Amino acid sequence: MRVGFNDGINLRHHAPGARRPEKHQLILELDDGSALTASVQMYGGVMAFPTGAMDDNMYYRASHDKPSPLTGAFDAAYFGAIVSASPSKLSAKGLLATEQRIPGLGNGVLQDILFRARIHPKRKVSAMSSAEHDALFASVKQTLADMTALCGRDVEKDLFGKPGGYKTLLSNKTVQLPCTVCGAAIVRQAYMGGNVYFCPGCQPPC
Ligand SMILES: [Zn+2]
Repeated sequence: MRVGFNDGINLRHHAPGARRPEKHQLILELDDGSALTASVQMYGGVMAFPTGAMDDNMYYRASHDKPSPLTGAFDAAYFGAIVSASPSKLSAKGLLATEQRIPGLGNGVLQDILFRARIHPKRKVSAMSSAEHDALFASVKQTLADMTALCGRDVEKDLFGKPGGYKTLLSNKTVQLPCTVCGAAIVRQAYMGGNVYFCPGCQPPC
């Protein structure tokens, strides 16, 4: 059997004898007396299934088959092919964070990627210049590398409940605060099944 944790799951480790949280969707008591608990705030998925049973699941397949942006296989040519294959009306958010084009890249990391590329979430991919495509590719690579090197974003916690070391620029904690680059107030808008955050100064509307 396999156990799978989707995004949205808060997974915590508890040392032997440590108090277990009252609220959880799953608790796994391990042979050494420690435990793992999984809890959900807004949405999430925990699965238990026989090995092989999820092989046809599109999320599993995509994450298994497609290169991670943290690897050399995810290069400018690979990103260019994703851009070329996308529908002409697709926006920057749609390109990066929908249809499993880039498995694992979701709404959480999207905001800082677009901010650092100076691209508005609603900007159409087909309207971007090649310099903007290059900036977007560079930001996907560098922003995710920075978040990984610093053990995640400071708005998320790891297995031991410790926040990550990457200082998140755009999130619900920085909305309406001044942009660190230009001073304009950070904006939040509902868009494509979730909120987007952007700086109207650095990421002008299309
Ligand atoms: Zn700004």
